Amino acid sequence: ATPTALLVGTGRGAQLGILIKGPEVLESTRRVDTVVLDKTGTVTTGRMSLIGVHTAEDEAEVLRLAGALENASEHPVAKAVVAAAGDVPEVEDFRNVEGLGVQGVVDGHAVLVGRERLLDDWSIRLGEDLAEAKAEAERQGRTAVLVAWDGQARAVLVVADTVKPTSREAVGRLRALGLRPVLLTGDNEAAARAVAAEVGIDEVIAEVLPADKVDVVKRLQDEGRVVAMAGDGVNDAAALAQADLGLAMGTGTDVAIEASDLTLVRGDLLAAADAIRLARRTLGTIK
Ligand code: ADP
Ligand code: MG
Repeated sequence: ATPTALLVGTGRGAQLGILIKGPEVLESTRRVDTVVLDKTGTVTTGRMSLIGVHTAEDEAEVLRLAGALENASEHPVAKAVVAAAGDVPEVEDFRNVEGLGVQGVVDGHAVLVGRERLLDDWSIRLGEDLAEAKAEAERQGRTAVLVAWDGQARAVLVVADTVKPTSREAVGRLRALGLRPVLLTGDNEAAARAVAAEVGIDEVIAEVLPADKVDVVKRLQDEGRVVAMAGDGVNDAAALAQADLGLAMGTGTDVAIEASDLTLVRGDLLAAADAIRLARRTLGTIK
């Protein structure tokens, strides 16, 4: 394509709510055959809410201790817990364990909040009741957040996210353009499967640690695929940079936007399909 055609393409992109880093981006956009979609904040709104608490302890105490830790975290799960907790005490020795959860000391209790793997690291086992509550929440596509203190698992917090209203249609359009959609997440397999089914994706890669998302993209590239990756989080940045085409949600973090080739200003995946169509049309490959 001529430089003029490329510039027209980028100008049209801006009208569609797509910011393109440079005209050369259109070339990689055109060749993409696989689109990896981050779940939380990309396919879903990422605005999570606490919808249930399973515990044999006092529920207010569970929320107070868990809320104190989550108050120091920016994770969407943390925001849901904090919103439900109300006033919370100070936390000492706080530590964010990337992709697993948070830990710290509250009122003299050593508290953990996060995935089962985080508890495993401290050799803390879920009892039968909590294991069942966790399994049930995950079957329903929820995220089960575990709370432990003083060496014992105490509660399952059930957190729900919602799929963005346009995600299903966007996946349909990406498929119609011949792309293979893949859902990628650090969340549990069952929750990921539930979201995937809701939007029409059958390939799911779940329980991936933030640092490993980039390897998933590399693996697909090693299989000979040309990979677009759409994401919003700090934990997506390396994968966005590795992808042949990085698509950042405009509603996401600055780090993700900087690592990407394209920004979908409204954070709407329909614009991802628009971008690919635009690139193909601009470069004259659409009939
Ligand atoms: P995603 O890939 O969906 O954006 P992350 O990799 O950030 O998710 O996190 C993976 C999982 O780790 C979350 O679904 C949650 O269960 C757990 N987790 C991460 N951070 C926290 C936190 N601050 N509090 C509780 N759980 C957390
Ligand atoms: Mg995300």
